[in-house]
Amino acid sequence: MDSASIATAAYIVASLLFILSLAGLSKHETASQGVLFGISGMTIALVATFVLVADLGSTTSVVLLIIAVAIGAAIGLWRARVVEMTGMPELIALLHSFVGLAAVLVGWNGYLEHGYFELQSLEDIHNAEVFIGVFIGAVTFTGSIVAFLKLSARIKSSPLMLPGKNYINLGALVLFVALTIWFVISPALWLLVAVTVVALALGWHLVASIGGGDMPVVVSMLNSYSGWAAAASGFLLNNDALIVTGALVGSSGAYLSYIMCQAMNRSFISVIAGGFGIEAGPADDKDYGEHREINAEDTAELLKNASSVIITPGYGMAVAQAQYPVADLVRKLRERGIDVKFGIHPVAGRLPGHMNVLLAEAKVPYDIVLEMDEINDDFKDTSVVLVIGANDTVNPAATEDPSSPIAGMPVLTVWEATDVVVFKRSMATGYAGVQNPLFFRENSQMLFGDAKERVEDILKAL
Ligand code: NDP
Repeated sequence: MDSASIATAAYIVASLLFILSLAGLSKHETASQGVLFGISGMTIALVATFVLVADLGSTTSVVLLIIAVAIGAAIGLWRARVVEMTGMPELIALLHSFVGLAAVLVGWNGYLEHGYFELQSLEDIHNAEVFIGVFIGAVTFTGSIVAFLKLSARIKSSPLMLPGKNYINLGALVLFVALTIWFVISPALWLLVAVTVVALALGWHLVASIGGGDMPVVVSMLNSYSGWAAAASGFLLNNDALIVTGALVGSSGAYLSYIMCQAMNRSFISVIAGGFGIEAGPADDKDYGEHREINAEDTAELLKNASSVIITPGYGMAVAQAQYPVADLVRKLRERGIDVKFGIHPVAGRLPGHMNVLLAEAKVPYDIVLEMDEINDDFKDTSVVLVIGANDTVNPAATEDPSSPIAGMPVLTVWEATDVVVFKRSMATGYAGVQNPLFFRENSQMLFGDAKERVEDILKAL
């Protein structure tokens, strides 16, 4: 058997392992098995690629490949070791931008290293592949960079509202289709330059136009785009593994975006079209009244007298690394016979499943960690809710104020409980940049300070 056939067989095995990996990752219990399948698939694909390159007989290619893989692996290992859990979404966004850039470079290479085609139709297909690959790659590249800048708070997360933004996006798409037809008929270099520039600008504008509250969907949408960019490169490089892997990432990312849109009551089309149909809301200059404050000792007293407690954690719990004292608090309260549960919003924190991972890390039993739909009916019969570092996910404006930028997003209805204690450091807004009327309600009290320190104070007082 020649090395090309061995590589093809290996790529099929690798692709099957990637499918098994995705299946495994969909459940808590099988997630680590899923990761192992993924690692095995990637190792097989890498070895097969080495074999293919080595078979070409060029030592320079093999050496270059080894150097590239060694540098990439070293940077990857280093980043994965030092990244904080809260920094994962921005790291993922940055990694998506590399896939986009790679697709652009592969596309340009496909144009410059133009092979010989026996049939005109094959040459036309090749040119279309180059053009589409460069377009998807460039949109993914700049879109992911904006997502990285927004997620790491290097730029504001509020949506950029250029006049006629929907026409800008639509115009760019129409231009892309027209340029593609032109390029297939007459593949001139300036057309490739033009589509690269248009796609870079479109990617930037699409993500810049999306508000902070919709960023979770943007991350999974860019994940999907990066998959399609990789698949496009796979066609150009004639690499089956890349086509299959790209299609898997592309379709699973698209499906995840769709599920998240449903969970947040957002229109999928609107989000992938850069906030299509969403207009800027009126400026928020409402007077919400006065907020009340509580200290750790009084919170401990409130908890001692409670019969049921629900904890709704958010991004602040992750920042403060408060999950360990929170787990101790839960243990203490349950020992006193108090019913304690967690309510998890689908987009709490900064990545899907963020809170579940933190609570599992702190060994909180799975059976008291409930999803939003499972717990929302229980708040009205609950004595005390502890909102630990959550903000947007417990904002009543989402259900009560149709002009709010997060209007329509389902939230945890914490305000229905008898008492609500909100742990945060200040009156600052959450990720979506929207004021939260919960803080000014009669039954809400603010417990200011770092969430971890305040929970530890409550533990001492108990
Ligand atoms: P938010 O981002 O709305 O609010 C977090 C709150 O935590 C802030 O108001 C902050 O207030 C407080 N906080 C920060 N640090 C600390 C600390 N050390 N101690 C105590 N409090 C702290 O969080 P939510 O989890 O409620 O909502 C998530 C938001 O992120 C949503 O808008 C979601 O759309 C978005 N998002 C989610 C992603 C996902 O996949 N889950 C991905 C990208 C975005 P203060 O500064 O006053 O302390």
